[in-house]
Parts: sequence; structure tokens; C-alpha cells
Amino acid sequence: MIKNTELLFASNNRGKVREMQRLFEGLPITFRCLPDFPGVKEVEETGLTFEENAALKARGYAGQTGLCALADDSGLEIAALGGAPGVHSSRYAGAHTGYDEKIRLLLHEIDRTGDVRRNARFVCEMALADKNGEILTTARGVCDGFIANELRGTNGFGYDPIFIPAGYDATFGELPDDIKQQISHRGHACVKIMRYLLDFIAV
Ligand code: IMP
Repeated sequence: MIKNTELLFASNNRGKVREMQRLFEGLPITFRCLPDFPGVKEVEETGLTFEENAALKARGYAGQTGLCALADDSGLEIAALGGAPGVHSSRYAGAHTGYDEKIRLLLHEIDRTGDVRRNARFVCEMALADKNGEILTTARGVCDGFIANELRGTNGFGYDPIFIPAGYDATFGELPDDIKQQISHRGHACVKIMRYLLDFIAV
């Protein structure tokens, strides 16, 4: 049973925090994020999988703040690149490189392989830790789609301008936020976590 209704979303990524705030709107939870805790030390993502990194972050940030912490680790897996950039998505082409540059390099790399496949997927693994850092539950969300030939749209963040979700003609950069929320990897994982929270939360 989670008695503390304050929940820390353990990310500094503004795009993710914005999406999570919207996803959790209306729940009886006080949503906090890492910028609310300036003294907290960054937990290094040393895991080899999304699962490991999500658990590392949930444990690490719960331990430092004494709050129940929800962490996600996510990324883009591209078939023609053998699943890259995957867990390295945010560090692809260098941690401080802008997304316009990362995307241009990624499109170039796909062309260089000569592989005509454009299929790709976004993956999100979430881990929820209690205030002592024990993992309570985990959830995975996947969104299948395709890589566009060029950047399209300015909504969202990260690789959104080149990701076309299956069943749509538009990229996440072009689709409205509420559509992304319903079909995205993060949206799917979040629904599973919410079911858990609503069962266990003490209101
Ligand atoms: P991390 O989970 O903070 O290690 O970083 C995940 C990285 O994957 C982000 O910085 C983006 O590069 C990419 N990513 C994850 N989810 C999304 C999304 O919904 N849209 C666009 N890019 C994403």
C-alpha cells in the first residue's frame, strides 16, 4: 500500500515530464519532478537494457528523496540499424548534440546501410519504487512505426519529427499531443502503472 501520495517522476527530460504530467492529470497524486530537488545527484544509466536503467533510476532517486519514485527508460529501436540507437538514444552522436543533428546523422546511417526497411519502434520501460527504494512494479510499453525520410513537424521532443506511428501518415512531430498520449510507448506503460497505483494508493 502506497501511503504517501506524493510521486516523484524521476527525469530531467522536460519533454517526458510534460507528457507524464498530462498522463497523471486528475489522479489523487501530487506529482513532483527532479528539478524540484536541486540537491539530488544524477543516477548514472549504466544498465545494458531499458529494464535495468529504469530500475536503477527508480531505486536511486527514491533513495535520495525519500519519495515513491517512478522512472522510465526509453528509446528508439530502428530495424535497419539492428535495434540502434536503443538504450543509447539520448546519447546518440554525443550527449550534448541537438536533435536536428542526431536525426540527420541517423537518417544518413540508415541510408548508408542500403537496407530499405524503415520500420522502427519506440520502447518505454517504467519502474516504480517505494520510498525505501524497493521496486514495487514495472511496466513496458511499445509503439511500432516507421522512420520518415525527413524531419516533419515540431510537436513533442527528441526523435518525434521522424517517427510515424503504425496506422498514421503523420509523424509524432505532426500529430497532436493527445493522440501521441493515447498510442505512445510511454502512454501504454503509464496506463499499466496507473492501474497498479489506483489499486494500491491510500486516499
Ligand atoms: P532516457 O530514457 O532519458 O535515457 O532517454 C530516452 C531518449 O529516447 C530520449 O532522450 C529521446 O532521445 C528518445 N525518446 C524516448 N521517448 C521518446 C519520445 O516519446 N519521443 C521522441 N524521442 C523519445
